[in-house]
Amino acid sequence: MSTYTNEQVSHLVDGSLDWETTFRMLSMPKDNSRFKQYVDALQKKVTFKDRIVLPLGPHMYIVQSAKSKKWLIKCDCGHEFCDYRENWKMHASIYVRDTEEAMTEVYPRLMAPDTQWQVYREYYCPTCGTMHDVEAPTPWYPVIHDFEPDIESFYKDWIGMPVPERAD
Ligand SMILES: [Zn+2]
Repeated sequence: MSTYTNEQVSHLVDGSLDWETTFRMLSMPKDNSRFKQYVDALQKKVTFKDRIVLPLGPHMYIVQSAKSKKWLIKCDCGHEFCDYRENWKMHASIYVRDTEEAMTEVYPRLMAPDTQWQVYREYYCPTCGTMHDVEAPTPWYPVIHDFEPDIESFYKDWIGMPVPERAD
């Protein structure tokens, strides 16, 4: 995939899913007060009781289920996608822009990529309709599993806090 593509995508997902910035911001050496502050603020915004373990985006979190203590991927609205080790995209509503018409809904004509070579896959929460991610792969490319954060070492080594309990 070209740089052009990444730029386009970064414009499209602006304010959406940006783990790297989040990680940079949160992983100041042993600055656990910042992480705690941030998570506390997020926790106040959500309506569910489950503890936020790690934000994955502005509207998506890994949470510790208040009931089962399992770690789940959860939307703002309370929708539970799956276990935190699974690819939540496989549990999302997916819209694929693979025609010129669909592309020109988001791009000016002639600036849209050729759908022979590239499509957009948009991933939405099935309950509230929030868009959580966009991919710009070639049409045959499999669904991308973004990253599996190493939460244990994030808590222990980066922010110096005890790892939340997890039932498997
Ligand atoms: Zn939702």
